Amino acid sequence: MFKKIALAALAAVCVSIATPALASDYLGNPKSMKFHYSSCSTIKHPERFVEFSTRDDALAAGYVPCKRCNP
Ligand SMILES: [Zn+2]
Repeated sequence: MFKKIALAALAAVCVSIATPALASDYLGNPKSMKFHYSSCSTIKHPERFVEFSTRDDALAAGYVPCKRCNP
C-alpha cells in the first residue's frame, strides 16, 4: 500500500519538473523585440526575457528571429 502511494508521488514530481522546461524553449527580448533559442549565447540576463513555448507565439507577439541562433 505504501509503495503505491510513494510511486504516485514520485510520478507527480517528475511531471512537475518536466513541464517548466518545455515552457521556455524560446526567449524574447522586449527591448530589441528579437527572440532566441533559450540556449543562445547572446542571452546574458534570461530573467529580463519573455518566455515563449513555440516559435509561432513569438512571431505572433511581434518578435523577429535572432540572426545569431536563427530560431
Ligand atoms: Zn539568439
